[in-house]
Amino acid sequence: MIHIKTDEEIEVQRESSLLVGKTLAEVAKHLKPGIETIVLDRIAEEFIRDHKAIPGFKGYSGFPATLCISVNDHVVHGIPGKNILKDGDIVSVDCGVLKNGFYGDSAYTFTVGTVDMETLLLLERTKQSLYLGIEQAVSGKRVGDISNAIQSYTEQFGYGVVRELVGHGVGKRLHEKPEVPNYGKQGSGPKLLSGMVIAIEPMINLGTRHITQSADGWTIRTSDRKPSAHFEHTLAIRNGKADILSSFEWIEEVLKQMNE
Ligand code: MG
Ligand code: MG
Repeated sequence: MIHIKTDEEIEVQRESSLLVGKTLAEVAKHLKPGIETIVLDRIAEEFIRDHKAIPGFKGYSGFPATLCISVNDHVVHGIPGKNILKDGDIVSVDCGVLKNGFYGDSAYTFTVGTVDMETLLLLERTKQSLYLGIEQAVSGKRVGDISNAIQSYTEQFGYGVVRELVGHGVGKRLHEKPEVPNYGKQGSGPKLLSGMVIAIEPMINLGTRHITQSADGWTIRTSDRKPSAHFEHTLAIRNGKADILSSFEWIEEVLKQMNE
């Protein structure tokens, strides 16, 4: 069953989603060569709890942390730990919060120090594919229109589109219906309706689309160990069109200041 949210519920969910954006910006301030990923996780958890919210991932199906931190060839679901970030890494940070009974979910892939041009382009194009997907999130279209926009844009560069993991509805539960794949046919899948809240999250690989699961039971890696990028927004379909509830605004403000 696909949940249709009221305007009031969507506003509550906007607050949760914006808090995710602010949390990721807080993490961004500390994302430098030499930092252990577990330190970033502690910063995020404290920030979320200070804002009277609950980390959405911690304990979800037994996940042990507040953030999923996935470095280089790690696609998603990386567990923060003693691993140290180094110059040239890319880091996908995925965060969820639960506040006032509703979840927000958003992810951003960051660069650490100087990253090679091929990988920078992967990041830029993966983010672009997210917005192309969002453009299709209007009432009357179907989930497959979102999927197809992401797939057709990214595959033209020879990238691999991960199929085993997908976007999703989000609300009182972190993962609701419908599934929102990053590949598919135009005009296929469930119809998009005003009041639906979904997370769109392209996971795009520089090389093969194929993935493997690590022995920790969580971390998903590319089979060829080439890098992977991940960007995610939570958005509502409202008055016929997409209303992005999460935000990269604070993240990108921090990144701009750090580069000055
Ligand atoms: Mg997420
Ligand atoms: Mg998600």
